[in-house]
Amino acid sequence: MKNRMILPAVLAAAFLMVLYFAFPLKGKTTGKNGAQTAADSLTQKEDSTMETMNLTEEEWKQRLTPEEYRVLRERGTERPFTGLYWDNHENGTYKCAACGAQLFSSETKFDSGCGWPSFYDVSSSDAIELKKDYSFGMIRFEVICKKCGSHLGHVFNDGPQPTNLRYCINSASLHFKKEENPKTKNK
Ligand code: FE
Repeated sequence: MKNRMILPAVLAAAFLMVLYFAFPLKGKTTGKNGAQTAADSLTQKEDSTMETMNLTEEEWKQRLTPEEYRVLRERGTERPFTGLYWDNHENGTYKCAACGAQLFSSETKFDSGCGWPSFYDVSSSDAIELKKDYSFGMIRFEVICKKCGSHLGHVFNDGPQPTNLRYCINSASLHFKKEENPKTKNK
C-alpha cells in the first residue's frame, strides 16, 4: 500500500517543482530569491542565444572557405598586404564574414601601413568582444565578433584621434558591402 502511494506523491512533487520553476521564467517579476536569480540568468541566456549564432565547427567548415575558417575559427592571421581589403578605399560597410553582423564602416577606416584593414572605431560597441591574448609572448587584445564568437583580429592603442585605437582586422574575417549611393559623392 505504501509503495502505491509513493509514485503519485513523487509525480505530484515533480509537477509542483516544474510549475515553480517554469512560471517565474516567463514572468517579468523582480524577486531577489535564489530561484529568481537563476531564472533571470536563464532568461538572459535565452535572450542572448537568440541574438548569437552557435554552430558546430563542422557547420562552420561547410559555410566558410578554408582561409576564412582558419582565420575566423582557428584564430589565424593572414599575411600582411595580401588580404582583399587592406587597400580598399571604397565607401561601405564591413560585415563579419561568418555571421554577417555589421562590424566596421569605411568612415573609420584609415591607412595604418600595417598591411591589414585598420579602423579607429567599431560600428557599435555591442558588435564585438575583447579578450586578453597572451600568445606569441605578447599581451594583446583579441577582437571577437559578439554574435558568432569568431576571431576578427586585434586592437592596439596606437591609432589616430579621436579614439587612439587601431582595430587591426583580417580581411578574411570581413565581407565588404559597397555603399550603393554614396551620399558624399555627386553633391
Ligand atoms: Fe560574426
